[in-house]
This record gives sequence, C-alpha cells and structure tokens, in this order.
Amino acid sequence: MRLLIIEDERKTLALLGGNLTEQGFEVVCAQDGESGLAEALSGQWDALLVDIMLPKLDGLSLVRQLRAKENVTPVIMLSARGEVEQRIEGLDAGADDYLPKPFAMSELLARLRSIARRSIQAKPVALTVADLSFDTFSREVRRAGKRVELSSRENLLLECLLRAEGRVVSRRDILSAVWEYDFDPGTNLVDVYVRRLRDKLDRDHAVPLIQTVRGLGYALRVQP
Ligand code: CA
Repeated sequence: MRLLIIEDERKTLALLGGNLTEQGFEVVCAQDGESGLAEALSGQWDALLVDIMLPKLDGLSLVRQLRAKENVTPVIMLSARGEVEQRIEGLDAGADDYLPKPFAMSELLARLRSIARRSIQAKPVALTVADLSFDTFSREVRRAGKRVELSSRENLLLECLLRAEGRVVSRRDILSAVWEYDFDPGTNLVDVYVRRLRDKLDRDHAVPLIQTVRGLGYALRVQP
C-alpha cells in the first residue's frame, strides 16, 4: 500500500513513517498542507493520513479541496484528542475515518487494513457464470442480457455465491456474508432467500444455475 502522511509534528511523523515502513507500507511524507495537497493530487495513493492542524493549509480544507477535485483517495484524519467537533467536521469534509491522537499503532493498522479491503471491493469487476453477469460496481444483474431486479439482500446473496466461483457455500457462510450474523439464528432465512433468487434468476431459463448441495449449502454453477 502506498501511503501519504501529511503531518507537521516531526516526532509523530518519524514514529508513523518508521512504523509503517517496517510494516511494509510505502510511505511518503509532507509537512504542510499545501505541499501535502500537491502530493496527494499528483500521485497514486492507497490512503492519506492527514493531520488537522497543519501550516499553510489545514487538514480539513485540504480534504475539501481534494474532494472538490473529485479525488476519492481514502483519508484518515488525525487530530488531538477530544476534538469531537473537528471529528464531525473532518467526516463532513470528506474524510473516511478519524483517529484521535495519541493512537495505538495497532489501531491505525486495523483502519488501514479496512481501507485496503474496501478498495478491493470498490474496483469494478464483472462476475459471470454462463449467461449470468453481475457488475460489482453498479451491482447490476443480467441474465441472458436481460436486467434482473433484486433486493439488496438478494443482491448480496448472489455476489456471495458468485465469489465462491462454483464452490459450495454453507448456510453459515451465507449468513455471515449477507446478514453479518456470526451465529445461526435457527431460521430458514437462507433457504427463503435462495428460493427468491431462484425465482428471479432461474425460473424462465433452461439451465438453472443455483444448485442445492444437500447437507452442505448452495453453489452457483452450471450443473455438471
Ligand atoms: Ca499538527
């Protein structure tokens, strides 16, 4: 991951830079808002760490200007502890996350991992099986070229099955991916939604794609 740190406090900068480099990040630093903004706009970054109080251009204005130029690089704002107002302002300005100083390096790393995961998900990818296609960016679903309207849960369920690339997905994994349950609620929720998805995707087609694998779960594939 390529990171740009915009921070004027030398001590924090050295600590952050050192730690993140050690963790395998590629780190570039800027020490005031103006040069930080220029760097942010001229390079490809996976994330920006932006201090709020900066010389020349403060962190909030920096993020506002960045977003005004339609730059969507994820931003984590850093600021002195307890500044709730600034935190809200930071998020309003277009920051994605916020870390009060002093923070634990482990927490920063966790936020960066979360940003990395989101950015992978945000890259548009077309997932296809036979004549079914799913655009992970627009979330549009088509079967045999025809648009299929799905509810948001049905859409998530379809994505979950597609991402397994034909492998069987257990009810437990579906519950976790679609409903974020880490337990089995003991209902037939999954089966109900699979039935709905089948109705919309498979009913009018000669080749059904959603397979029930008895005792194991479901798979989306052309039946062998
Ligand atoms: Ca500062």
